[in-house]
Amino acid sequence: MKYVLVTGGVVSGLGKGVTASSIGVVLKACGLRVTSIKIDPYLNTDAGTMSPFEHGEVFVLDDGGEVDLDLGNYERFLDVRLTRDNNITTGKIYQSVLEKERKGDYLGKTVQVVPHITDAIKDWIESVSAIPVDGKEGPADVCVIELGGTVGDIESMPFIEALRQLFFSTGPDNFCLIHVSLVPVLGVVGEQKTKPTQHSVRELRALGLTPHFLACRSAQPLLENTKQKLSQFCHVPAANILNIHDVPNIWHVPLLLRNQNAHEAILRQLALVRVAGPPNLQEWTTRAETFDNLTNSVKIAMVGKYVGLTDSYLSVVKALLHACIACSLKPSIEWIAASDLEDESAKSTPEAHSKAWEALRNSACVLVPGGFGDRGVNGMILAAKYARENKVPYLGICLGMQISVIEISRSILGWKGANSTEFDEHAPNPVVIFMPEGSRTHMGNTMRLGSRRTLLQTADCITAKLYHNPDHVDERHRHRYEVNPEVVEDLEKTGLRFVGKDESRQRMEILELPSHPFYVGVQFHPEYKSRPGKPSALFLGLILAATGQLEAYVKSHQNGSI
Ligand code: GLN
Repeated sequence: MKYVLVTGGVVSGLGKGVTASSIGVVLKACGLRVTSIKIDPYLNTDAGTMSPFEHGEVFVLDDGGEVDLDLGNYERFLDVRLTRDNNITTGKIYQSVLEKERKGDYLGKTVQVVPHITDAIKDWIESVSAIPVDGKEGPADVCVIELGGTVGDIESMPFIEALRQLFFSTGPDNFCLIHVSLVPVLGVVGEQKTKPTQHSVRELRALGLTPHFLACRSAQPLLENTKQKLSQFCHVPAANILNIHDVPNIWHVPLLLRNQNAHEAILRQLALVRVAGPPNLQEWTTRAETFDNLTNSVKIAMVGKYVGLTDSYLSVVKALLHACIACSLKPSIEWIAASDLEDESAKSTPEAHSKAWEALRNSACVLVPGGFGDRGVNGMILAAKYARENKVPYLGICLGMQISVIEISRSILGWKGANSTEFDEHAPNPVVIFMPEGSRTHMGNTMRLGSRRTLLQTADCITAKLYHNPDHVDERHRHRYEVNPEVVEDLEKTGLRFVGKDESRQRMEILELPSHPFYVGVQFHPEYKSRPGKPSALFLGLILAATGQLEAYVKSHQNGSI
């Protein structure tokens, strides 16, 4: 196995994840098979319990792993399916070491950070990098490892030490260290400053690791003398100083690296020159350039709870982007805090209330994404009602589907007490209820997580047509509550159709309103499997419907002309 380690210095938020996945893209374009590992030095075992407000979205994998959103970047850029073990955290490592300690596996020895924690890290990296993630058999050629945080953080020390040892044992031909850093320009003088990079490289070298490459983030391209300076002071050949200056969209980053011949230098470092070919990045080039030249946009109302931090819905935003590009449009997302739509807000914050309603009314479609807890639920219900009554295309994802069921139960069935038991345990009409796959009495580990099968109940529905008529779809889930099977019959009397169910037919997976141009609710999260160039069927449907192209699209597909 060949390893490419990506570390970061100076400040966080440099786009280390995008840099690391772009390096993966370029290597893949050279014909290599690439996998990736993200190391998060925090103590949480996984991202499952982390607040989207603070940490951005929780990304969900096929195997049900709840992981850092960077894994989503890797899946999208490299078009791979990762496993929960591809995300290493301090919590997971300590847990595994402590479990072994309790079993007596250390034979009475004192258990220490070095060598026990560091050995566990190395073993983990070695075994996970061998898992095939691209649908082919056998391990990949290269594993890109991104070390989260900034070099010098106390938390990342054991990882740096383990990686140093790994480097030492795998040998120089199998290891390539790329350090991502920042080259700022200070206002008055306007000079590109190399000192922060010098300091962070010094820090890295003090820990026993010398970078083979620097990937310098900057606003403008690096000047030649800045490169020379960096080379001299950081002990890195000038040809290995890569520059990722600001670009109009992130798909340019692999192209930027290719233009600097990064692939050749990395392949040389990894002794892979003979195995790899020249990079074929045609698709990326077209996509990056097409996006830059798009002029028309479509307004999408995103009605959610965590709208203050757009990273909270990162995969939904990416899925919208993929779908919009397929329709030659730029997404223009109207972020609407669901609570601003509520009647109370008209009294307490009238300006926000009228702004939110104006944004909703000005949008071509409405999306209610997943969420937990009751804040903003009434606002989401109002948005779903507005979309249903005004025939505005609507996509409800997970909570968004549950919202539709509550709204239709209240408005059409007249069940004033309709609610989810998540928000009102004693709801008179519990239309959405706790339906764990395992125990009903234990709250821990009761989430329905990861890839589950949905059987399409009919070919005569918009979802089946958008997915091109399969008998089933496998999408990722992350929820506890579901439509109460006892009210399905009543709900279907309103015209609502449950066109997708699980294998037991007890779990409602997809709902549609045939009398509406596009009204779809799904219990799963289609956004996690959307890829650039392969947009998720339902996001595509939403955008097509929002721009009046859905019917033509469906027809042309039925005729087999696309
Ligand atoms: N809170 C809801 C549930 O647990 C919806 C979850 C979600 O939207 N991901 O079922």
